[in-house]
Amino acid sequence: MSGRADGGRGAAMIPDEQLRPRALDEFIGHEDLRANLKVYLQAAKERGQALDHTLFHGNPGLGKTTLAQIMAAELGVSLVSTSGPVLERSGDLAAILTNLGRNDILFVDEIHRMPIAVEEVLYPALEDFKLDLVIGQGPGARTVKIDLEPFTLVGATTRIGLLSSPLRDRFGVILRLEFYSPEELARIVKRTARILNVSISGDGALEIGRRSRGTPRIANRLLRRVRDFTTVRGSSVIGEHEAAHALARMDVDESGLDQMDRKLLTVLIEHYGGGPAGLKTLAVACSEDVRTIEDIYEPYLIQSGFLKRTPRGRMATAKAYRHLNMLG
Ligand code: ADP
Repeated sequence: MSGRADGGRGAAMIPDEQLRPRALDEFIGHEDLRANLKVYLQAAKERGQALDHTLFHGNPGLGKTTLAQIMAAELGVSLVSTSGPVLERSGDLAAILTNLGRNDILFVDEIHRMPIAVEEVLYPALEDFKLDLVIGQGPGARTVKIDLEPFTLVGATTRIGLLSSPLRDRFGVILRLEFYSPEELARIVKRTARILNVSISGDGALEIGRRSRGTPRIANRLLRRVRDFTTVRGSSVIGEHEAAHALARMDVDESGLDQMDRKLLTVLIEHYGGGPAGLKTLAVACSEDVRTIEDIYEPYLIQSGFLKRTPRGRMATAKAYRHLNMLG
């Protein structure tokens, strides 16, 4: 025993990319989603056809990119990755599509941010594996049809509501990723700890799992930081006490709320009488970007019952008052 929680090896050097599960059986949680996906993958494989276009939606860090990579690995095809905001012109998309091999996967992250002109080029490609390219300009312009190899589009979005309905309708499979339970997150923490060669007890993993806002990416990040505190304290194993101490030092409370979560709730209660207050008003009062609040902070606060979204704005719940020791 080296006397260090990271076994004395340079675990800090292991990039996040290596923490991703590579096979469906390694993907923790979401049993039903996994079981269904397994059927779709097997059926496509047996038929030798491209899988139906698939859309994953859910908060950041819940495993959308990981699942796209697993799908490609399970099908034995290549994965080409891009993202909505990167595809600025239709030519960008055309270049990618014409280079795809048979049954390959095109993964488009943040697909709701794809420009509409690019989206329109995508429709015939999704339906008939054909590309309509306009060559030239003005009266001399003509359209050429290019045949593409069959491929699968895998889209990921944090905001399914912002997807145009023609695009949404072209996905044969739509899967929603929910927040993970503390127990599932504890299993993810244990798996990551094994890869990082970090010793952690079951209680230690559960403590991190409980405070990770239902999100694997956060669980992995907290594990790395807890390991730092544990190493510096000279402990060899991350136990419940080590985890709780480190998380308190990082200002992550027992419910997994961080400084910004608490600021948001405090501002809502102190400045706006608990609400309702508009999102923009709150964002200005917290000096935070509207989208960050909407995509990162709010979903977990709503899911865990600290915040309510009403037609007239956001409201703090009784649970928020209790959590912050404030009087309602
Ligand atoms: P998203 O694309 O939804 O933002 P990612 O797929 O990038 O999320 O996942 C973030 C990190 O969380 C990945 O590095 C991966 O290691 C981990 N992760 C996500 N889901 C799982 C899971 N179900 N089991 C194990 N690790 C997971």
